[in-house]
Amino acid sequence: MTEGQGNRASTGLVTMVVRGGCKVRVDGQVVDCIAQNASRSAGEPELAVGDEVTLMHPSGGLYLLESVLPRRTSLSKADPRRPDLEQVIAANIDLAVLVVTITEPSLRISLVDRFLVASRISGVTPLICVNKIDLLRNEENSPELSCLLAYNEMGVEVVVCSVVTGRGIDRLAQMLQGKRSVLIGQKGVGKTSLIDALFRDAELSAAQPQKGRARGRSATMQAILLQPKPGIEVIDTSGLRDFGIRRMTAQELQEHFPEFRVCASGCERRDCTHTSELNCAVKRAVHDKSIRRSRYESYLQLLGEDNPKNDKSAVCKRGQKSSLTTSTIDAEGPFRCANCGEHVGTENAGTHHRNHCPNCLYSLHLDNRPGDRSAHCGGLMEPIAVWVRHGGEWALIHRCKECGALSSNRIAADDNEILLLSLAVRPLSSPPFPLNRLKDLLKRG
Ligand code: GDP
Ligand code: ZN
Repeated sequence: MTEGQGNRASTGLVTMVVRGGCKVRVDGQVVDCIAQNASRSAGEPELAVGDEVTLMHPSGGLYLLESVLPRRTSLSKADPRRPDLEQVIAANIDLAVLVVTITEPSLRISLVDRFLVASRISGVTPLICVNKIDLLRNEENSPELSCLLAYNEMGVEVVVCSVVTGRGIDRLAQMLQGKRSVLIGQKGVGKTSLIDALFRDAELSAAQPQKGRARGRSATMQAILLQPKPGIEVIDTSGLRDFGIRRMTAQELQEHFPEFRVCASGCERRDCTHTSELNCAVKRAVHDKSIRRSRYESYLQLLGEDNPKNDKSAVCKRGQKSSLTTSTIDAEGPFRCANCGEHVGTENAGTHHRNHCPNCLYSLHLDNRPGDRSAHCGGLMEPIAVWVRHGGEWALIHRCKECGALSSNRIAADDNEILLLSLAVRPLSSPPFPLNRLKDLLKRG
């Protein structure tokens, strides 16, 4: 602390950000501090919990924020209202803990993948904490739990916990010891309860009477830095609804999917984006189950959402990408067919959504969310037949050349008529019934 002209300057750590100011820990005490407008120039990052700041303390007066010191690390996500801007979740942290549950609330695996990408970008070590394990009836047969434990193989520590039974709390404390960490996750996964359990543990081990613990965040608060035990600093954050990631090209994005990198050398194209290209080793690995499908789906989601080349015309009304190509959108048309290479517009499709190429009638089996098309192995889907639906609407039947999945979609006005006709009459070329005797049979009938 320095003194001069009645002003005392000191450095401190932001423990909470409030409107117009923050709470700062200075010399072991938490003080209220006013953030003067003059102290931050335009373009400077928003103040975040974990920031190291310098303060002025005019004698007898309030603490005034003077400057924010350069950050060692920061974990951020895209602002949901302005995706071009970043929101800093926490600054100067060593460890980012994503708390998830399998039930109550149910697991969103894409959040895990987004979190891992964000922590890799920020240079912060990630940890996955699976809480409320007491609610899981059959641990051995839980696909969600085995999916989460599999992140361990990627070098990510996974700690299984229950605040109710106390399982894993010691291990979590061990992992947090000597570090400043941030706990993030959906609302209700138990972040505050876990921090409370750490406090409780400290109190019991110090044989202290049960006193009112420094209960964390209030419902409206974004984040708060707490010290449940000596040597452990945790930032409790409010419920995470989304985890937007800044724009990345396919090449940048796959740096964050290490298991893709391993097999991408087997792709035919060196610049393969693993979306619509043929002979893609990554898609093959998804098909062979050596890459988890959920990881591939997360990759597609991140690529689709954040690819600046994508425009609205490539997205169907339900926010799903076209089945043709996801990333080859250029001046000649919104899509380029992965089978015949023709440029394809949506004008005659009836919607802004193209399920197949009007030229060769092939489709690409590449939806990133289940529900629309039956499966999504990334294989090319061959047109095999036409049929008429209830109501007289004609549709094409596609069969995936890789996994054999079938799907059907509406015939559009500009679909190749000759090909459609050849598909319609194809069964008649080798009928499993006596077509040459049709006349006789009809007469007899
Ligand atoms: P946060 O929004 O992530 O901070 O979640 P809270 O800590 O407020 O917890 C949400 C609810 O889950 C509360 O009712 C907790 O009592 C409950 N909860 C927290 N951890 C566990 C756990 O391990 N098992 C069970 N069964 N309930 C838990
Ligand atoms: Zn590829």
